[in-house]
Amino acid sequence: MLMELDNEEVVIVKWTEEAQAELQKIPAFVRDMAVKAVESEVTARGDDTVTAEDLRRSREKYIAFAEDKPGQKKKTRIAVVRCETVSEVCPGVACMAAFNRRQQYFKSYGDEAEIIGFFTCGGCPGRRVSRLMDSLKKHKLDVVHLSSCMGLSDNYIPCPHYEEIRKSIENKGIKVVDGTHH
Ligand code: SF4
Repeated sequence: MLMELDNEEVVIVKWTEEAQAELQKIPAFVRDMAVKAVESEVTARGDDTVTAEDLRRSREKYIAFAEDKPGQKKKTRIAVVRCETVSEVCPGVACMAAFNRRQQYFKSYGDEAEIIGFFTCGGCPGRRVSRLMDSLKKHKLDVVHLSSCMGLSDNYIPCPHYEEIRKSIENKGIKVVDGTHH
C-alpha cells in the first residue's frame, strides 16, 4: 500500500502474507484504521514491511478499545443529530448531560449504552445525515436521537426538514427517538 510521509515522500508499504491474514481477523469497521495505524508506525521507524507482529501490536495500541470483547454484552449504540444552525450558539452540553445522567429522553438506557456519534445535520436540508448513517451502521448503530433543538419552537425556529431527516434515518432500518433533553 502507498504511504505518504510528512515530507511528501511516498513509500510503498509491503505486507507479509501472515500480516495480510492477521488483517482479516480485525472487524471490517475498524480495518482501515488498523491499516493506517500500523503503516504509520512501520514507516516512522524507517521500515517498509508490515509483519503480523507489527499488526498485533498496533491493534492492541490503537484499535482494541473500539472492538467488542468476546463474551461482552452488546451495548446500545446511540447517535445524536443536531441542528447545524443552532450548533453555532450551543455546544451540546445539555444533550450530553442528559445522556450521562440518563435523564429526559435517555432515561430508559442503563449502563450498557454509549454515544458513538454526535454531529450536526450539515445544514439545510440535513445534507449529511444519510451518509453518516451509512458510516455509523458499520459501527452497529442502534438508535438516533434527534436533538430537542430541532423540534421545539420556543427558542429556535423548528426544523422544516424534520420529517425528511427522520425518514432518511428510518429507511435505513435505524430507530429514531424524538428529543434529547427538553
Ligand atoms: S435541516 Fe433542520 S436541523 Fe438542519 S440546519 Fe436546517 S433547520 Fe437545522
